[in-house]
Amino acid sequence: MDSDGKSDIVESMHELGLMNHLLQDALAAARGGPVCGLSVRVGPLSGVVVEALQFAFEALSPGSPAAGATLTILETRPSFRCPDCQTRYETPLGAYQCPACGGTAGELCGGNELELVSIEVPDHV
Ligand SMILES: [Zn+2]
Repeated sequence: MDSDGKSDIVESMHELGLMNHLLQDALAAARGGPVCGLSVRVGPLSGVVVEALQFAFEALSPGSPAAGATLTILETRPSFRCPDCQTRYETPLGAYQCPACGGTAGELCGGNELELVSIEVPDHV
């Protein structure tokens, strides 16, 4: 039985692919210049493992203009829209009651994002 190690690799490959995409976005935004930091927003429902994303960044960034850059991962919370009173609200994972009217029919409208939020470039380019 050697399938356990294999599935680990497949899972980290998933984050590697995602991180590669985010890194390309960051490098494109920097127009080929050096990048010293990037911020990424990750929702808890995105299926992305934050630790694996961090690991993927450390694996991918050396040799690129983002080598040595700081990766900041901003974890969001699920957000909902209440169909009864139209309130938009965020709750911890596992709770979804509307804080305004107590309704439980909230529709998920966020929490599954994975996106580049911002990059930092050195002052003296
Ligand atoms: Zn409501």
